[in-house]
Amino acid sequence: MEFRFTAAEEAFRQEVREFLRRELPADWAASGGVGTLGEGSEERWELLRGFQRKLAQRGWLTLGWPQEHGGLGASHMMQVIYNEEMSYQRAPTQLGVGPDRVGPTIILYGTEEQKREHLPGIVNAEAVWCQGFSEPGAGSDLASLETRAEADGDYFVINGQKIWTSFAHKADWCILLARTDQEAPKHKGISYFLLDMRTPGIEVRPLMDLMGRANFNQVFLENVRVPRTAVAGELNRGWYVAAATLDFERSGINRVVTGIRVYDELLGYAAETLVDGRRLLDDMRVRHKLAELAIEFQAGRLLAYRVASMQARGQIPNAEASMSKLYGSELQQRLAGAGMEVLGLGGQLEPGSRWAPLEGRVEAFYLLAAALTIAAGTSEIMRGIIAGRGLGLPRG
Ligand SMILES: Cc1cc2nc3c(=O)[nH]c(=O)nc-3n(C[C@H](O)[C@H](O)[C@H](O)COP(=O)(O)OP(=O)(O)OC[C@H]3O[C@@H](n4cnc5c(N)ncnc54)[C@H](O)[C@@H]3O)c2cc1C
Repeated sequence: MEFRFTAAEEAFRQEVREFLRRELPADWAASGGVGTLGEGSEERWELLRGFQRKLAQRGWLTLGWPQEHGGLGASHMMQVIYNEEMSYQRAPTQLGVGPDRVGPTIILYGTEEQKREHLPGIVNAEAVWCQGFSEPGAGSDLASLETRAEADGDYFVINGQKIWTSFAHKADWCILLARTDQEAPKHKGISYFLLDMRTPGIEVRPLMDLMGRANFNQVFLENVRVPRTAVAGELNRGWYVAAATLDFERSGINRVVTGIRVYDELLGYAAETLVDGRRLLDDMRVRHKLAELAIEFQAGRLLAYRVASMQARGQIPNAEASMSKLYGSELQQRLAGAGMEVLGLGGQLEPGSRWAPLEGRVEAFYLLAAALTIAAGTSEIMRGIIAGRGLGLPRG
């Protein structure tokens, strides 16, 4: 067994590093990927949009897409390298879910007209997409969703409510699941819509997350008229289209590397900080905690590489992607907890406080990490997939 990147892959890694050094504001990573502009401000949004356009100019937003659809046709390993470098610098990889989820789904299931209409906007970073799947009564059990789409000539009329819709307040388009057959068994009456967010009848109301940021929303749909041509894949078989979208969602290395960045900063802090004349790193408990995490991050990285190498061979990682998601997200929480222990009471100070160790980045990470075992499928659901599809265990 040999784990080594090729010369071309290493050269690409350097290219991405240099690009990020040049194009990100100097304080970007140190400010926790927030920059000096206020979180949620219009200027920050414009900065993020401008950065996305620069990625798009190089074709990097859609690195792995086939060339015929405007991508670079790069290998899964190139994608992994790119994601590693971007995450380590806390660079905004993408806004919304267009490049990693919507585009690949449209390539698989969309009509030629849908491909012509939607793919260029994603490749060029002009269209921001959000994902309208979850509802107040349908998250893990997504097939219980109640939003309805009723046929009316060449249109469907949609009524219902979505929740936790990240980026809906900024999105131009939404991939939306709605029930189109009320009588069918619950997995068989759902369709997958490509919804224009400017359609009359859509109301977006922001929700605050633990960090006080308004990044996700409730979306209310009242008599929203959508043309029949907006259905991706077969009518009433949207569940299977959504399953493809969710598989694209779970296979990233980003979460492991985001944690490695925090880990490295914590290690640096423990090496430099004196408590009662001794370095924090000389405390046995701190050393052991950091040693343990080093092993875990190595394991997390390898689980993510396994997903990528399966994809590179044309296999579909299913339980393997769930293992990577589960382990990576719970590891982030263990790291955040360890960070709080190492930093002591000062670790609770927020970014912006002059006394906050590491400028409050561990505090912010602690709050962020809480959502990671819920978003993109909860830990319990991941364990269920590993047990059932991976190990072949009977349902509990
Ligand atoms: C930061 C963030 C961003 C998000 N962004 C989006 C988005 O853009 N678009 C979108 O559609 N959704 C989004 N979501 C929603 C996310 O997909 C759901 O929160 C998630 O699927 C869980 O659903 P739920 O919140 O309804 O919890 P529930 O499904 O109600 O789960 C509640 C608890 O019950 C457990 N549970 C449920 N079913 C089982 C079972 N069968 N076996 C064992 N335990 C079970 C769960 O693990 C959990 O602990 C986002 C969520 C977060 C946190």
